[in-house]
Amino acid sequence: MIGPDTRIAIIGAGVGGLTLALALRERGMDAEIYERTTELREVGAAVYLAANASRFIERWGLGQAFSEVSWEPTALIYRDGRDGRVIARHDETESGRYGAPGHGIHRADLQQILADAVGRDRIHLGKEITSYTQENGEVTIQFADGTNSQADLVVGADGARSIVRELMVGHDDKIYTGRSGFRGLVAVKDLPSLPDPTTIQFWIGPDGHLLHYPIGGDGDVINFLLVKRMPWDSEDWTIEADPDEHLKHFEGWHPAVIEMISAPTFDRRWALNRRPWLSSWSDGRVVLLGDAAHALVPHHGQGANITVEDAVVLARCLSEADPDGIDDAIASYQEQRLERTARVQKASYVTADVLHLHDGDEATARNTELASPEWMHGQLDWIHSYNADPNFDKVDLA
Ligand SMILES: Cc1cc2nc3c(=O)[nH]c(=O)nc-3n(C[C@H](O)[C@H](O)[C@H](O)COP(=O)(O)OP(=O)(O)OC[C@H]3O[C@@H](n4cnc5c(N)ncnc54)[C@H](O)[C@@H]3O)c2cc1C
Repeated sequence: MIGPDTRIAIIGAGVGGLTLALALRERGMDAEIYERTTELREVGAAVYLAANASRFIERWGLGQAFSEVSWEPTALIYRDGRDGRVIARHDETESGRYGAPGHGIHRADLQQILADAVGRDRIHLGKEITSYTQENGEVTIQFADGTNSQADLVVGADGARSIVRELMVGHDDKIYTGRSGFRGLVAVKDLPSLPDPTTIQFWIGPDGHLLHYPIGGDGDVINFLLVKRMPWDSEDWTIEADPDEHLKHFEGWHPAVIEMISAPTFDRRWALNRRPWLSSWSDGRVVLLGDAAHALVPHHGQGANITVEDAVVLARCLSEADPDGIDDAIASYQEQRLERTARVQKASYVTADVLHLHDGDEATARNTELASPEWMHGQLDWIHSYNADPNFDKVDLA
């Protein structure tokens, strides 16, 4: 029977694993989380949580804790990366338009708040899954340390480099998108040329762009992602960065761009990989969630957000299923998530092409569209206003 005694094992204590544990608890179910690392210490700058995720953060009573260490951008601005000209400016905040706050938050803060809410005793560190077997509805997971564990349901929330997905699909199916990323944090005080530091800004141009937003309780630190077209000939997801290789493409760009991307020392370059669409995320009683199911490129800032949606929907499907209905719950979860996540994946992927247009008619038409509130709402509303739990009040958009 699905309930407090159902043994649910979550692989990975990232955004998906931790929020799934919270969503399950809210519905009277418990889970054990198995995490590969020996200490919870998220690396890699920050994320932006949008209303489609943050409405659940509020519901779980974590809104105040998030607000204390995060910043809600005051506007969304697109600029020409070379001369700094404003192409488009949209002044509504996330909470103003979608009824739940935006959180620019350091990943370490996010993970700490979520892990504290879940309870550290539920998170088993140093447990790297290497394989699983199934018999009569019971899954046995094997860990690299030689131990194993049994569960009625296993959720592979082990991220973009998911081993659970690889075991399911039979090979590593990542696809390099032709673009690399450089991520960094810079104090606002070190960016004297930066206009509108309290906003989300895209500085766009041929074959590259810079995205940044403030994080932290005072919004005094800028998190940025620099994206450019570059070859990749490694199986790894990050490689050592050559000093200054990120700067070459952006010579002559606006001083605010140069200032920001020159500030930190980059030792790693990130492959912007995606995963192909799967028609099923499950194998018996093992099911994928988050990046393991639908890793996408970060150009819509939605990877963590749709992962939280997954968690809410999976918990709801389990709680709404018949007592012996784990298989039905898995099927219903996929039915509700496959199409939407594929749509967001695709939208994220094509966004880079649009941002990286060379000067000409297409770029001019793009700039007109970006500046139109109606066009922008058409691009963003269906993502940010989405409510993964119908028991929530519907979001009314003007
Ligand atoms: C450059 C960049 C910028 C981004 N910016 C944003 C943003 O602004 N907004 C946004 O919404 N998203 C953003 N994302 C995406 C976001 O970080 C991911 O989509 C999100 O973290 C996915 O959550 P997850 O739980 O699936 O995976 P993760 O959060 O990556 O968690 C996976 C966990 O599984 C563990 N694990 C891995 N393998 C094993 C194993 N074999 N056994 C046990 N544990 C294992 C890992 O250690 C990790 O703790 C960005 C991503 C990148 C790369």
